[in-house]
Parts: sequence; C-alpha cells; structure tokens
Amino acid sequence: MFELNEALLVLQHRDTRVTELERELVRIPAQDAALQKSLADRSAALAKLRQDTMAAEAERKKLDLEAASRRGLIARYKQQQLQTRKNEEFAALTQSISHAEKEISEIEDQELELMEKIETGQAALAAEKGRLAEFEAKIAKQRADLVTRKAYVEKELAEARAQRTAAEQPIPEEVLTKYRRILTSKKDTAIVPAPHGVCSGCHMKLTMNTSLRIKTRDSLQNCENCGRFVYWDD
Ligand SMILES: [Zn+2]
Repeated sequence: MFELNEALLVLQHRDTRVTELERELVRIPAQDAALQKSLADRSAALAKLRQDTMAAEAERKKLDLEAASRRGLIARYKQQQLQTRKNEEFAALTQSISHAEKEISEIEDQELELMEKIETGQAALAAEKGRLAEFEAKIAKQRADLVTRKAYVEKELAEARAQRTAAEQPIPEEVLTKYRRILTSKKDTAIVPAPHGVCSGCHMKLTMNTSLRIKTRDSLQNCENCGRFVYWDD
C-alpha cells in the first residue's frame, strides 16, 4: 500500500480510539447523576410513605379524641336523663344520645379505614427500609465502579492522544490539514477503501482516472463525490 495511505489509516484508527474514549468520559458524569437520581427518587418515595403513614396515625388519634368527647356527652346526657322529670326533656336527651352514637359509629368506620391504611403503610415501610439499604449499597458500588472506570478511561485517553500525536509525525502538514477537515465534516472517516473503484464512504463510483491512480498505489487520491481519501482495496 502507498505509505502515506497507510500512515493516514493508522492515524484514523488512533483518532477513532481517542473519540471513543472522549465520548465515554463525557457519559460518565451523566451515568453517575442517573445513579444518584434513582437513589434520591427511591428515598423520596420512602419519605412520602412514612409521611403518609404518620399523617394517618395523627388523623386516627384526632378521631379517637372526637369519639371520646362524644362518649363524654352521652354519659352527661344519661346523667341528665336520670335527673329530669320532664318527658319532653327526656325525649330530647334520648335524641341527642342517639345522634352522638350515630356520630361515634361513623367515626369508628373512618378509624377502621385509617387503621388498614396505617397497617399497610407500616408493613410497606418495614419491607422498603431493608430493600432501600440493599439498593443504597448497590448504587454505592456502581458509583465506585464509575470512579474506577473514569480513572481508567482518563489514563487510556492520555495514551491514545500520545499515540495519535506520534501517528501524525510522518504525515505532511498539508495532508494532515486536509485529513482533519474531511474528518470534521464527515464525522466518521476521512480515509476509506474503494473496492472495485467504489468509494465505501459515499458508495459512489470513482472516476476511471481516480480508479486507475489508486490502483497504481503511488499517489494520494480523493473521492470526487465526498472528498474522502480513497485507497485501492481488492
Ligand atoms: Zn466518496
């Protein structure tokens, strides 16, 4: 192979490696943020469950007091019934007692619902506490792995960049400039094989002239369509 083509291929290979490592390095903080968010979301869900359960307990205590106050009223009404001699007053007190009893019964129904909610909430809290601890440990491990991975990628990237610089040395400045320009515009490759005279970058057929020139392997040629460097490959 024409040696300049070979030098460009080596450079492209190292460029690709540098790009891959750079992309990975950029992804690491986002991956770490996602891990932290998943943990924060789960902790927030547990806090919400705890808060809801506590609110239900407070509501139940309030209902307890309300029921107790009505029981107190009923006791007082009964006492008053023992003292009165008026039928009307006795009847009115009977009505008040039955009204208070009905209210107590409604309060007790609400309390039953709340107790179910509290029980379910407490069971879920106990179960989730254990699972959250496991989840925290898993996230901590994954975050530690990311730190290790980051250090590794940074080291690899420094090496890959040094190797890339070394690969640039045998290439004349104007060829290098052209190569960089093509790579920046095409984003993937700047030098591609052209099997049977077809550019594998843009899949267009090269002109007869370019095909012949790359076949003799003695000069640097570009695809007339996409501008990439092309080399003969049979
Ligand atoms: Zn092309």
